[in-house]
Amino acid sequence: MKLSLVIPCYNEAEALPMTGPRLRALLQDLIAKGKIAPESNVWLVDDGSCDDTWKTIVSLAAESDQFVGIKLSRNRGHQNALLAGLLSADGDAVISIDADLQDDLRVVEEMVDAHTAGYEIVYGVRKARDTDSWFKRWTALRYYGLLRVLGVDILPNHADFRLMGRAAINALSAYEEVNLFLRGIIPQLGFSCTSVYYDRLERIAGTSKYPLRKMLQLAWDGVTSFSAAPLRMIAALGGIVCALSMGIAFWVLSLRLFTDRALPGWASTTLPIYALGGLQLLCTGILGEYVAKIYAETKRRPRFWIERMERRVAGSGRQEGAGNVVKQSRG
Ligand code: UDP
Ligand code: MG
Repeated sequence: MKLSLVIPCYNEAEALPMTGPRLRALLQDLIAKGKIAPESNVWLVDDGSCDDTWKTIVSLAAESDQFVGIKLSRNRGHQNALLAGLLSADGDAVISIDADLQDDLRVVEEMVDAHTAGYEIVYGVRKARDTDSWFKRWTALRYYGLLRVLGVDILPNHADFRLMGRAAINALSAYEEVNLFLRGIIPQLGFSCTSVYYDRLERIAGTSKYPLRKMLQLAWDGVTSFSAAPLRMIAALGGIVCALSMGIAFWVLSLRLFTDRALPGWASTTLPIYALGGLQLLCTGILGEYVAKIYAETKRRPRFWIERMERRVAGSGRQEGAGNVVKQSRG
């Protein structure tokens, strides 16, 4: 099995001189153990850095043909850089890792073993988040909870450290959406999956390239790219307000008809406010329902994947196709 490691790099000139040799040593170790093919490689994706990242990548690639460099024309963000690497890498299996090596390289061997044992996707899951601040830990936990409530299929404490086989990569390439949230898409692919667990380490060098702004953007993409629940909530709210306004309408009418406490003009002013407010929310909700449908259609996500096919070929017994993913065509 040929293994490709994919590393998105944004202003990582400080980390790469340490990361490069570590990754190479890792590949050599796995090659020596006979677990991966000798032509396995490392794909370094420069995400439009403004420091010496590209120079470092070029010198690594010049030293050894185990390194392949890709340079994006400008900064497109972690998820896009990752996708560029995943879709370019030529391994039979591809593992994505951050350039700062916060994800423990020691579990790569476990990932490879799991893939050899037949798992198409192997997720790296953090055991403890000791190296993160309590703020990051707490918000992450709440966020995964929120996504679950909104019906998004996501694995808690898994970032983008994972192994994907060729069939899974082919499936991923058919997802044409631009608001990328890989953690949400990959569980949608299906295939047999498993997880390996590791402790998250300190950054090897340099500072975080994920400021709060980028983190919030990613979190927001996670909600809005995978859930129409916020739109549905408008319709639900409209329904509730409509029901309440009916109740209030009866109350206002009964005050008007059966008591003398109602001021002239009060009922005719108050009633339409509640009734129209509820009606408007309900109508917005119905519009939202259609917007949700349009939004799902515009993503053009594949509707299914055929993982295997098996049939009898006349005279010569059985023929089996494995790992050959066929995308259904749209009529
Ligand atoms: N990264 C990237 N483009 C960006 C921001 C980050 O390719 O616009 C890369 C970065 O070089 C690193 C990975 O994404 O390899 C994760 O970033 P970082 O480790 O800074 O995030 P943190 O671990 O602090 O959340
Ligand atoms: Mg990091």
